Amino acid sequence: MMTAPLRAGEITVPVALGARAYDIAIGRGLIGDLGKRIAALKPGASAAIVVDETVAAHHLKATEESLTAADVRAVPVKVPPGEATKSWRMLEQVCDRLLDARIERNDVIVALGGGVVGDLAGFAAAILRRGLDVVQVPTTLLAQVDSSVGGKTGINTRHGKNLIGAFYQPILVIADTALLDTLPQRDFRAGYAEVAKFGLLGDAGFFAWLEANWQDVFAGGSSSGSSAREHAIAIACRGKAAIVARDERETGERALLNLGHTFGHAFEAAAGFSDKLLHGEAVALGIACAFEFSTHLGLIPGNDAGRVAHHLAAVGLPTRVGDVPGLHVTADRLMDLIAQDKKVKRGKLTFILCRGIGKAFIANDVDAAQVHTFLAEKLA
Ligand code: NAD
Repeated sequence: MMTAPLRAGEITVPVALGARAYDIAIGRGLIGDLGKRIAALKPGASAAIVVDETVAAHHLKATEESLTAADVRAVPVKVPPGEATKSWRMLEQVCDRLLDARIERNDVIVALGGGVVGDLAGFAAAILRRGLDVVQVPTTLLAQVDSSVGGKTGINTRHGKNLIGAFYQPILVIADTALLDTLPQRDFRAGYAEVAKFGLLGDAGFFAWLEANWQDVFAGGSSSGSSAREHAIAIACRGKAAIVARDERETGERALLNLGHTFGHAFEAAAGFSDKLLHGEAVALGIACAFEFSTHLGLIPGNDAGRVAHHLAAVGLPTRVGDVPGLHVTADRLMDLIAQDKKVKRGKLTFILCRGIGKAFIANDVDAAQVHTFLAEKLA
């Protein structure tokens, strides 16, 4: 569903998915218009706000005020912060609380939070009463550029991350960049790895722009830095929207978005999915590995891998295992974790590799033995 911009300076990125098309609205202060937009899209609907306790402390009041000012009944449903919240138990609790609050088929769920709340609330919306509309209001940089867009929702099980879920598109994404002002610097940095990823996988010009302007993206605020932040988020969202529009269910090129993620997931698992290494930090480490490995395979002439590692390190992201305090891992252990994550077919693995900055491709026939040799050299 499309909405017209309500504020000057707002950027709208359409996600062209036919009957499931929607807009991503990007700009400072957009939360103030959330109620008006929901009332316009769904007259008479109530809104259940699924939010974690940390985000609630900062942003729930403004969200409720925006809804009630537009005569939208607001029902908060709070969950604990953290990855453990993406569980069967919390899914059950959230669904029961939504039903207790008499949230009906025509009402809407507002997912106010980072990727954890977005994935959990999005999945609850997909299954409650066989599907309720969901509006994603991402509050982390990672969620604004990645997890709120594209419709992947889900929870974790003891067998692994994101193994239960659904493709379920939101009807609207509101990326209010002012919400990021309360985000801890470490979480902002982790989300930046996903921003850089969009340049590295398909837009060398954007990566060069980030190299020159990343400090303004971090600064935000009402200075000139503000427009740099919105610009970066919009470019990343456009990149993701274009890929999702062509391959909604990841049967092909959507896999490019996993650049850095195969190595990254292995590092994340080795760190026990703990605060030792945040998801975005693992992605940064994984991206550095993907570029080095591509160079090792002779795919990248010149020093693009060095340039990528230099930029990620300048921002403060890890590019070597030694950059992560307390992370000790061997090549054998990483290979075990990669094999658990990905099917090894006759000694071959699928990886996202690069022929240079902005030139990622899907390689289905990567030799597991070469990955092992590379990791052993990298960790030596
Ligand atoms: P998160 O949701 O856990 O948020 C990180 C921390 O920041 C939390 O403690 C949260 O309470 C806090 N926080 C959030 N917004 C804040 C704000 N504005 N001010 C202050 N504190 C704030 O983590 P995340 O990094 O946003 O997301 C990670 C999750 O996203 C993982 O579960 C991952 O699997 C998922 N993910 C999903 C997709 C997808 O396509 N669905 C893509 C990438 C990642």
